[in-house]
Amino acid sequence: MRFRHAFISAAAAFAVLNAPLAAQQLDANQQFAKEVYKELLEINSSNMTSGTTVAANAMAKRFRDAGFPEQDIFLGGVRADKHNLVVRYHGRGGANAPKPLLLLAHIDVVEALKTDWSPDLDPFKFIERDGYFYARGSADDKSMAAIFVANLIRLKKEGYVSDRDIIVALTADEEGGCCNGVRWLIANHKELIDAGMVINEGGGGSLRGDKPFLNSIQATQKNSVNFKVIAKNKGGHSSVPRPDNAIYQLSDGLARFSKFSFPVKFNAVTRAFFEKTAEVETPEVGRAMKALLKNENDLAAAAIVSKDPRYNSMLRTTCVATMLSGGHAANALPQTAEVGINCRILPDAVPSEVRNGIIKAVADTGLEVSAAGNHNFVEPSSIGTEIMKPVEQVTKELFGNIPVIPTMSTGATDSQPLRAIGIPSYGVSGIMSDPEDIRSHGRDERMRIKSFFDGQEFLLRLTKLLAPGKPAA
Ligand SMILES: [Zn+2]
Repeated sequence: MRFRHAFISAAAAFAVLNAPLAAQQLDANQQFAKEVYKELLEINSSNMTSGTTVAANAMAKRFRDAGFPEQDIFLGGVRADKHNLVVRYHGRGGANAPKPLLLLAHIDVVEALKTDWSPDLDPFKFIERDGYFYARGSADDKSMAAIFVANLIRLKKEGYVSDRDIIVALTADEEGGCCNGVRWLIANHKELIDAGMVINEGGGGSLRGDKPFLNSIQATQKNSVNFKVIAKNKGGHSSVPRPDNAIYQLSDGLARFSKFSFPVKFNAVTRAFFEKTAEVETPEVGRAMKALLKNENDLAAAAIVSKDPRYNSMLRTTCVATMLSGGHAANALPQTAEVGINCRILPDAVPSEVRNGIIKAVADTGLEVSAAGNHNFVEPSSIGTEIMKPVEQVTKELFGNIPVIPTMSTGATDSQPLRAIGIPSYGVSGIMSDPEDIRSHGRDERMRIKSFFDGQEFLLRLTKLLAPGKPAA
C-alpha cells in the first residue's frame, strides 16, 4: 500500500504530490544513488535484531550487475549474519602506483523502534518529505555507503581508471555488537583493505541558516575508558542509621568530582581546529581561543571556550558519571554504592594518569577507583597537504569560500583501528547538516536531500583527486 497512514499532514501531502517533479530533476547518476540508498535503508541491519549480510549481499549484487568480476567481490565476516563486503576496482597498477584508496562505510545501524518515531514515519521505510530523506541510517552511515557504491559503479561505467586501486568496504558492527567488520578484516584479510589512505565517516560540513558554513576533516579521535568509583561500608539495620553511609559517602565524592576538570591540552589536530574556528567564532570566543592557543594554562580563556560543551570536549580529557547503583535492601544500610564514570580521553592520554586525576578529584572521601585497562596510543593522521589540498579544492568548487577545519571526534569511529596499523584515515564527506539538529542514533533520523546529492558529487570529485586517472581510451 502506498500510503500507510490516513492522517498525512498537508505539508507531507504537498511533498508527495511534488515528488514526481523533484524526481525529474535528478540526473541518472543521482537517481541511481537514490535507489541504492533506498534499498540499503529499507534493509533493517540494526546490530541487535538483525545483521548486515542482507545489505552486503544486496550491494554485492549491484556490483555484479555493473560488471565487477566475482574475484574482486569479497563477502565474509565473523558470523553468517554479520557479513562485510569489500569490492576492488583495479587501477593501472605498475611499480610506482600508490597503495589503494579505501572508501569505508559501515552498513549496520543503531536499533530503532517504530513506536519511538513520529507516527507518520517508519525507521525502515525510505520516506521523502519536505526536503529530507527519513530512515534509520539515513545520516549514519548508509548515506556514505550508498554514495560510495553508486560512485564506484559510475567510475567503472565511465571507464575511469586510476593508477591506484579504489576499494569500497561496507562493514558490520561499527555501532556495537559482537563482530566489528573493520577489526575482523584487519585480523583476517588485511590484504583486502590495505590502503594508502582511508576516507570514512566522522567528518562533514555545517550549515548555518541552510547555507554551508564550514567543512571538516576528522583526523583523530578520543578514546573511551570506563572507571568505577565505589564506596564500601559495613552496613547494618536501617532502623539504626549512622552518619557513615556508603550512599552519602559516594554522593559527597560525586559532588566534588562534578567540579573537577582535566587540564587543557592541544594536539596538532585540535590546535588547527581552534586556530581556524577562532576566525569564524564571535569576537569574544575567538579571542579566548587565540589566548588559549598561546597559553594552555590561561584559565580565564579556558572558562570562556569551555562554556560550549562541544569545545570543552575537544580541549581536554572529560570524565562524567553515567551509571549509579547502591544498596541491597530497602531496610538495610547500604554496604556498597558505586558510580560508573565514562572518560573520553585525549588520543595521547594515558589511562592510569586519568585514573590519578579521578583519585585526586575525590581525595579524602575514602572512595575506591577501579583500575585502568590497557590502551594503545594511536597517532593522529597527518593533516598535511596530501589531504587538506584536495578537500579544500573540492569544498571551494562546491560550497565557495568556506573553511576546511580539521577535527578530533569525541566519539568513536572505525578509523581508529586503521590508524593503529599505520593507514592515514580521514572522516570527510562534504555532507552538510545542521549542527543544532543531529539525529543520528535518535528519533526521526534524516538527511537533507540537497546534502545527499552534494555529498555524492563531493565524494566523486575527491575520489578522482585522490586517485587521479582518466577515462580509458
Ligand atoms: Zn556511524
